[in-house]
Amino acid sequence: MKTVNSLLAATGTTIFTVMSALAVEHKSINLGQGFPDTDGPLDVIQAAVDALHDGRNQYPPMTGVAELREAVAAANKRFYGLDIDPNGEVVVTSGATEAITACLMAVIDPGDEVVLIEPLYDTYLPVVRMLGAVPRLVRLSPPKWELPRAELAAAFGPKTKAILLNTPMNPTGKIFTNAELAFIAELMQKHDTYAICDEVYEHLTFDGWKHVPLMTLPGMRERCMRVGSAGKTFSFTGWKIGYVSAPRALATVVAKAHQNLTFTSAPNLQRAVAVGLAKDDAYFASLSSGLQAKRDRLAAGLRELGLDVLEARGSYFITTDFSPLGFAGDDVAFCRHITEHAGVTAIPVSAFYETDAPSQYARFAFCKREEVLDEAVARLKRHFLPAAQAGTARAKLTGTG
Ligand code: PMP
Ligand code: GLN
Repeated sequence: MKTVNSLLAATGTTIFTVMSALAVEHKSINLGQGFPDTDGPLDVIQAAVDALHDGRNQYPPMTGVAELREAVAAANKRFYGLDIDPNGEVVVTSGATEAITACLMAVIDPGDEVVLIEPLYDTYLPVVRMLGAVPRLVRLSPPKWELPRAELAAAFGPKTKAILLNTPMNPTGKIFTNAELAFIAELMQKHDTYAICDEVYEHLTFDGWKHVPLMTLPGMRERCMRVGSAGKTFSFTGWKIGYVSAPRALATVVAKAHQNLTFTSAPNLQRAVAVGLAKDDAYFASLSSGLQAKRDRLAAGLRELGLDVLEARGSYFITTDFSPLGFAGDDVAFCRHITEHAGVTAIPVSAFYETDAPSQYARFAFCKREEVLDEAVARLKRHFLPAAQAGTARAKLTGTG
């Protein structure tokens, strides 16, 4: 038999699926894959239920139902002052995952270069490669994750077609500063490139940090494809409704990509998300304040345990340096170990790197009920602290269990 696609054959199962399966196997508290453990707003659920009953259950329009395209445009105006035409500048997709792929497809020709920033979300590299593009990786370093400007500038060149920018960023919780965004915008103009802006965590920001879309910077309106996700904004990660806001010339091509990927997504969910996007400011404020309290609760517990918790300004995640625990193993071993022996699951941060990843960081999701976060911390303490206090830490910290 002839070989199957070599890139896909070489792609492993996503770390999120691997760790969630391990969590189920070991009845572990899953602070790995990022999904809330409570449903989003009841009125949005009710809107999805009602929409099923009113006879619009056949293929919706390819770029999305009018209600949702209009709601996406209105949200762009309300939150960022962006004028987006719902007829021609919005494409609704099956989640941000499809949106990102469709945006990359819209601009890439084989041989183009795409600038990516590590640590990076796990679909980016395989998709860029599948499209025949050449990734140019630039790395942020813990604990501050600042943009290394000289390295970013060096990654741009005559072949650069696009940069893929994720802010607020998974897994770091970083929010790119205005100065960093301005620097990126300058490079994009200098080298005439596009940006795919993965902004799925746009409404999950903390400590007064506000999300600023790259698209709002001077000269960027025509170059950016801005991606949002109802999964994150309304705590329905299983619904898989995403949306792209882009200038007409790009949105037209994004729609062509979408036409060949999924063509459309469930009309009742689209209509419910339109109801969600129209919710008042109090909803969006309480979404982030509620998550901030959860972040603080988990961070405090992990610090008591001895982990070094890095600052997270947005997203569902905190990154921790577990080296103070003295664990004799890398991040993959650590995340397996705590799943199997402490009953708590996290994600090894090396999964967000191509090669030569740092090996002492674990990502914990805090988008869980308070009692679940408390129980996770209690389990980790029961596992690590008595051993450390009794001076028999080695036995527990070898990574072999
Ligand atoms: N981008 C980032 C940075 C993410 O963390 C995720 C995960 N949820 C996605 C994209 C995918 O979003 P969706 O579930 O809407 O496809
Ligand atoms: N975005 C989620 C995370 O980072 C995972 C989504 C998925 O499993 N595909 O945890």
